[in-house]
Amino acid sequence: MEHKELSVSYYNFLPEVRMLMELPGDVIIHDTTLREGEQTAGVVYKPEDKLYIAKLLDEVGIQQIEAGFPAASKGEREALKMIVREGLNAKIFGFARAVKSDIDAVADVGAYGLVMSFPPSDIQLKYKLKISREEYYNRAVELVEYAKSRGLYITFSAEDSTRADFNFLIKVFNGIIDAGCDRLRVVDTLGCIHPTAMKFLIKRIRESLKKKVPIEVHCHNDHGLAVANTLAAVEAGAEVLSTSVLGLGERCGLAPTEEVIVALKNLYGLGNFRTEKLYKLCKEVERITGFIIPPHKPVVGVNAFAHASGIHQHAVLENPICYEPYPPEMVGQFRRIVIGKLSGKHAIKAKLAELGISATEEEVSKIVELVKSVSEERKSPLSDKEFIEIVEKVKESPLTTRC
Ligand code: ZN
Repeated sequence: MEHKELSVSYYNFLPEVRMLMELPGDVIIHDTTLREGEQTAGVVYKPEDKLYIAKLLDEVGIQQIEAGFPAASKGEREALKMIVREGLNAKIFGFARAVKSDIDAVADVGAYGLVMSFPPSDIQLKYKLKISREEYYNRAVELVEYAKSRGLYITFSAEDSTRADFNFLIKVFNGIIDAGCDRLRVVDTLGCIHPTAMKFLIKRIRESLKKKVPIEVHCHNDHGLAVANTLAAVEAGAEVLSTSVLGLGERCGLAPTEEVIVALKNLYGLGNFRTEKLYKLCKEVERITGFIIPPHKPVVGVNAFAHASGIHQHAVLENPICYEPYPPEMVGQFRRIVIGKLSGKHAIKAKLAELGISATEEEVSKIVELVKSVSEERKSPLSDKEFIEIVEKVKESPLTTRC
């Protein structure tokens, strides 16, 4: 059952397919589990939780951590200071609205970088900010200059970029780059663009900038396309990806960090992350936030490497590449052979071997029968304990097992 291979579609790497992309040389994950993640309904971190999660992100090799919104509260400022003091490899960013006091709060906690959120779309200008495009432009330029004077690396987060007028967006981007902005964040705040349009948008932005700066994307998942849109942006040359562990965030959340990292590695050959630490990171975030990982969640769900049907189990026991695109160990996961009504002889034998139990062919046949009938009646798979009880019944003697 050894599985060391990556066995994804060869189409991904065909030269004629790669020619359709303008992939960056490298990618930066800018993780916002600690900022946007806390905007998940029901999630509140203690400062020590934040520090612990920051350390786990750092262990994975995530290059940038958006650690919080220091203007929001004293606790938030303390948490950011603690994380900055820890001296992690990851660069620490603080979030701010487009006001000087928020920028000061980020500078005062000693963060390396600022993420300043300021929405240029007409909808947000009219209903949220209640200012004109001209006022917006002037304030954006002034605040970027101010943030620069405070020594911060500036990411300008153009909230709701995907609904903003393109010409105005480019005017703003070119203006703030002149004022010292280091990076532009294209934000699909409502998760309302599709991958082809995202690719088009990033490409057009890159072509329209007077001076090249890195492009970051922040994709929400309202249409279930956050990961697809993030990767579409990478295909158009975006170098920085704003993601969160388990996709935590407002409403339907964001592109999940773990899914983006694994897709970059396996499907594009990008990134250099310690993927084997992803499972622990996600399980710890689950424990701390109380946000339960759905069983069929890619990468870290309990079913991500579980095989339930006898046909799949047989094949996986011969060679896992039949039904696993990459080995579970790559992300710190485990393979699970689900023992239940769909299990055949091969799976039962593998389970017996796993538990260190020997059985004759005749006994195996009887165990298969009993497993099927119990599971069918119960309408669920069997635990190891229940499986052993069936084996004992067939063998008519109690067992000493490794279980
Ligand atoms: Zn967001």
